[in-house]
Amino acid sequence: MSFRLRWLAPFLAFAFLAAGRAAESREPKNIYLLKQELKSYVDSGHYMQDIAAVAADATKWIEQRVAAAKPGERLALILDIDETMLSNLPEIRRNDFGYVPPSWSAWVRSGQAPVIAPVREVFRAARRLGVAVLILTGRVESDRAGTEANLRAAGYDGWTQLHFKPDDAKETTGAFKAAWRRRFAAEGWTLIANLGDQETDLAGGFSERTFKLPNPFYLTK
Ligand SMILES: [Mg+2]
Repeated sequence: MSFRLRWLAPFLAFAFLAAGRAAESREPKNIYLLKQELKSYVDSGHYMQDIAAVAADATKWIEQRVAAAKPGERLALILDIDETMLSNLPEIRRNDFGYVPPSWSAWVRSGQAPVIAPVREVFRAARRLGVAVLILTGRVESDRAGTEANLRAAGYDGWTQLHFKPDDAKETTGAFKAAWRRRFAAEGWTLIANLGDQETDLAGGFSERTFKLPNPFYLTK
């Protein structure tokens, strides 16, 4: 290395580091591109395949657990509704992945949400095996009529309990659901499986196994 290069080296190193730092942009991913990813996840069939894989695991577990049940155990499956039993994708896509509260409420009241068929298979397997289905939803009490009609139209029949949040609820959906599971356990239910699309459907315990369905569309606290 010549004398001149040796003298320049620290300055060159500093210049490269500075350039590198400037290149580390903190710009989040472009929202248009994210929406394209969501659409292709759904349209490719991968979303439904991912759901089907989780649902198959849940059914397998329920079958094993029923086979190993002790006399007198009251076995139950916990289910969530939105993006678990029913799909809101028609509404979500109509609003280009935006959440528009009045539009969402009208959609829920309309009872038009299509079934998520792999979860209906879990539901039917549970019923066939004598496992009670206890449904907990972040939907509110005033959504009850539209929701029950929607579930029946989607082919769900024979749930044991269905609980909605009060219209004026202050607590999070996660806290509401965990409190109900605690109560179910206290009432003598053995909660063998809990299936939902949000971490808050599953956090807080009181079920032997949890099954997380994909939902890259929104987050519920
Ligand atoms: Mg949900």
